[in-house]
Amino acid sequence: MATHRTKMLIIGSGPAGYSAAIYGARAMMEPIVVQGLQPGGQLTITTDVENYPGFRDVVQGPWLMEEMKAQAEHVGTRMMWDTIVEVDLENGSPFRAVGDSGDEYIGDVLVIATGAQAKWLGVPGEQELGGKGVSACATCDGFFYRGKKVAVIGGGNTAVEEALYLTNHSDDVTLIHRRDELRAEKILQDRLLNHPKISVLWNKTVESFEAGDNGALSHVRLRDTQTGEDSDFGCDGAFVAIGHAPSTELFKGKLPMDDSGYLLVEAGTPKTSIPGVFAAGDVMDHTYRQAVTAAGTGCMAALDAERFLATLEVAEREAAE
Ligand code: NDP
Repeated sequence: MATHRTKMLIIGSGPAGYSAAIYGARAMMEPIVVQGLQPGGQLTITTDVENYPGFRDVVQGPWLMEEMKAQAEHVGTRMMWDTIVEVDLENGSPFRAVGDSGDEYIGDVLVIATGAQAKWLGVPGEQELGGKGVSACATCDGFFYRGKKVAVIGGGNTAVEEALYLTNHSDDVTLIHRRDELRAEKILQDRLLNHPKISVLWNKTVESFEAGDNGALSHVRLRDTQTGEDSDFGCDGAFVAIGHAPSTELFKGKLPMDDSGYLLVEAGTPKTSIPGVFAAGDVMDHTYRQAVTAAGTGCMAALDAERFLATLEVAEREAAE
């Protein structure tokens, strides 16, 4: 077990964590990024990114994250292949965190950039058939359904993008949505509704995922929200794409959160209720949740961290005099 000491400890390695690290390293805060279970975050399970500024052509999510990581390392960030399992915020700065590896991390400031994760429906069969037909990531698992019939559940940007992506592998894609209108952006809706390989089932909720004799998914049981009628929809793969929940389990009872678990910050800043602890990216933003906004709040966290450290140093100097 080792102890890693730094001025700036960052938990999470999406656009928010890496941006905080880039700014923090350039401000001589010698950041450590503890990368977590999914280094690079949600963009590593995305394909095309065409809304991150700076790239005229479409870029790939995993590539973009590799570049951000390389940039952060290039300016002096230390990356740790570890997952934080415990944090101690009670006594103020310096903050202590413990990794899955048993290593201890101590930072004068802490930036929480743990992001968000895909939500599940919580219906029978969903977890049991995980990896056997039910998935929450078309870009990860779509390939396995080459030439097969697939369904996507949800009506937001993620669901529509997943459905469009799946047409690379399947000629028979059905979007299942609980209402009669989509939440996704108009441009994505147009692409979906005009796509020859995609159909939409409106006003249907998923009641369960059912297995066939081979133990893999054979159909999805649906309920019509208008008539209450149940029906079975046969498919080989079903992709749940109903949004995300913030990864804040570690901070329960330690930092204020809203009802959905998003960390609360002072309006217009990344400051949590504990001086020296900042939150950036999807973990504190349930409204915008974009790579570019996450990067922006990561930058803000680093700038505020720098100010906090300067105040801390002045206070320590004064105390010593
Ligand atoms: P959203 O919250 O936008 O959409 C979730 C969808 O799932 C909604 O249509 C919702 O239905 C449906 N849903 C939620 N819970 C259930 C349930 N229990 N049963 C059935 N359906 C359910 O999440 P997204 O992940 O799509 O998007 C999150 C954010 O990320 C958004 O801000 C989005 O714009 C952004 N994003 C942007 C992308 C881009 O710009 N390229 C790509 C992907 C995401 P209902 O509509 O009825 O509430």
